[in-house]
Amino acid sequence: ADKDYSFMLRLKMPGGECPPELYRLLDDLSNEYGHGHLRLTTRQTFQLHGVAKSNLKHVIREIMNVGSSTVGGCGDVNRNIMTTPAPITNRPEYEYARTVTKQVAELLRPLSAAFTELWLDGEKAATIEYWRKDIDGAAIDAEMLRDNGRGVILDHPVEPLYGDLYLPRKFKIGVTVPGDNAIDIYTNDIGLVVVTDPRTGALEGFNVMAGGGLGRTHGKETTFARAADHIGFVPADRVLECCKAILAAQRDHGNREVRANARMKYLVHTLGVDRFRTLVESYMSAPFEPWRALPEWRYSDWMGWHEQGDGKWFYGFNIEQGRVIDREGGPQIKTALRAIADRFAFPMICTPNQSLILRDVAEAQRAPLEALLAAHGILPIEAIDPLTRLAIACPALPMCGLAITEAERRMPEFITRVRALLDAGGLGDEEIMMRMTGCPNGCARPYMAELAFVGDGPDTYQVWLGGTPQCDRVGYPLMKGMKEKDLEATLRPLLAAYKAGRQTRAGARGPESFGEYCSRLGKAGVEAAVAAV
Ligand code: SF4
Repeated sequence: ADKDYSFMLRLKMPGGECPPELYRLLDDLSNEYGHGHLRLTTRQTFQLHGVAKSNLKHVIREIMNVGSSTVGGCGDVNRNIMTTPAPITNRPEYEYARTVTKQVAELLRPLSAAFTELWLDGEKAATIEYWRKDIDGAAIDAEMLRDNGRGVILDHPVEPLYGDLYLPRKFKIGVTVPGDNAIDIYTNDIGLVVVTDPRTGALEGFNVMAGGGLGRTHGKETTFARAADHIGFVPADRVLECCKAILAAQRDHGNREVRANARMKYLVHTLGVDRFRTLVESYMSAPFEPWRALPEWRYSDWMGWHEQGDGKWFYGFNIEQGRVIDREGGPQIKTALRAIADRFAFPMICTPNQSLILRDVAEAQRAPLEALLAAHGILPIEAIDPLTRLAIACPALPMCGLAITEAERRMPEFITRVRALLDAGGLGDEEIMMRMTGCPNGCARPYMAELAFVGDGPDTYQVWLGGTPQCDRVGYPLMKGMKEKDLEATLRPLLAAYKAGRQTRAGARGPESFGEYCSRLGKAGVEAAVAAV
């Protein structure tokens, strides 16, 4: 029966930009063809769950016809490109980040006609993607699309970059500005950081990272989570060439034999950074320049009210685990978002933290927007527990076929229990970034969090520590197989050890965070500290 074959459909939405008309369509499609709700992902896009096989063609066509796309939402190609979600207009580096996000998304878009043949009966969609018309002046050079990274024009007329075999595995790119690590930049295959002239603000180029990725397999030591390495700097006019060169290096040298080791992080790890850099340079017209110094990273979720810099405002509001749904006795997020799209038509931006930003809000619209949110039971950001605000969880059961245990449905309960532990332990002011996944694939980026729960059996989790609040390093597993019921027994001594042993660095505003403490001590140090409590 048709209901036996239902699908999850993920959009590709570079930088998370979602025009109101697209949101209205997704809302309609979710009601008519899905489970009646939508899900914001950890890569700044929407997923629609429960689309019956017989409706797929229609749903995909509708999405393409409103100007969006599902091409590259999944598959062994470049996935949705992330960028800092803050729609700031008066700081040029933010504009540069948005522009290059769109350029790279266009450059690395799969070009095969197979998609239209399969899903649109060979017909062109009625419109092009919204964002493509914004690619300001710097149209993608046709040669760049055609040559294969070595200046050689391929015979293959359809997929000039991906060739016949596509990539060994999915490929992820993030773009941000110095200091703003809203996107977990170290988790990407390629990370680009805008570098501007400090005196004029003019774009100089990009610092380039490569080799990040979080997916791993329990019990398989050859698989691991990895933070990207700093590769070097490229001038602005060669950033597209550089992205294409890195992708070509992975295409030609990535592991196609063992799928568990096919991500580019394993190529970087196997070669080492210097040999990987040399390999990439063999596809480039000039070598990398030295990495430019950057300020310290900070993680921001960009929630609440912020000035855009053009007289308007943007407002970020937390959506727990990214589930756009009306909850019985709770916030009516789905109804509220539809009302916002109908009444105000604010452009939306999906955040990397499974939440939403509404942009282009005029001063006079702020109070009515706040009233609308309040009328639907949506709390102002100041009223949200920071633990909830920082937390993300993957869909896991019952949505994901790979899930071993619960994540999205369990996270709220874990937050409540950790909150109780913190309050009881005299740590009520601590803001600990927690993440949870239903399997080791790492879709909610657990290995970068200060405290993470990674499903490893029915109602059991690996506990990971040692990520930091600024998301700049991979943590380590403290233990395997923590039963869900043993959360308090596991965390209580750990938090007590943290409280007793945390240090204050000279010049720092307060004691080190839980993540910094666990990172400084390492696994053995934490175990010793817990034993001594
Ligand atoms: Fe599914 Fe695992 Fe990804 Fe969670 S982390 S969504 S369970 S694949």
